[in-house]
Amino acid sequence: MATFELIQGDITTIAVDAIVNAANSSLQGGGGVDGAIHRAAGPGLLAECFQMNGCPTGEARLTGGYDLPAKFVIHAVGPRWRGGNHGEVGLLAATYRSALALAKECDVRSIAFPAISCGIYGYPVEEAARVAVDTVRKHAAGMPELERGIFVCFDEKTYEAYDVALNTAE
Ligand code: ADP
Repeated sequence: MATFELIQGDITTIAVDAIVNAANSSLQGGGGVDGAIHRAAGPGLLAECFQMNGCPTGEARLTGGYDLPAKFVIHAVGPRWRGGNHGEVGLLAATYRSALALAKECDVRSIAFPAISCGIYGYPVEEAARVAVDTVRKHAAGMPELERGIFVCFDEKTYEAYDVALNTAE
């Protein structure tokens, strides 16, 4: 049974089996956490991503971690917030489930998530935190090999939203 932790910091510094990237569907790099991951991983990561044919919203793709302390990067494409009536909740939950399904295939024992969709994609952080925590907890129950799940929040506002979600969800 996995334990879940919340930290405020930079996901590129975390030594876990896999870190999740909040990627865009081109998988060709971007701003925010995506840019930070590519900078820290080095050019090999972008070269591997270039060989893929992008990734639809709600899905995820696996690469190596290159110069990162993490063995793998799971590039997960969350939805852009468009007011809340465009399937955003379902798509965000699907994004986390897709990331975890890849983690399971690779027998990942520790995984770190950023706040997918909460930056450039504009998803309200309190709602996104609830979806993230509930979905990961539920899905991780079927992953006996998973020992640690870490939610990595870059700023204090995000940290506070996750703190509430972690301490109020079942
Ligand atoms: P999206 O396009 O999915 O919204 P962003 O990268 O813009 O993705 O933002 C997702 C979240 O990642 C935001 O909460 C942002 O503050 C955070 N973030 C940005 N850089 C890092 C980093 N180095 N480590 C962890 N989280 C980060």
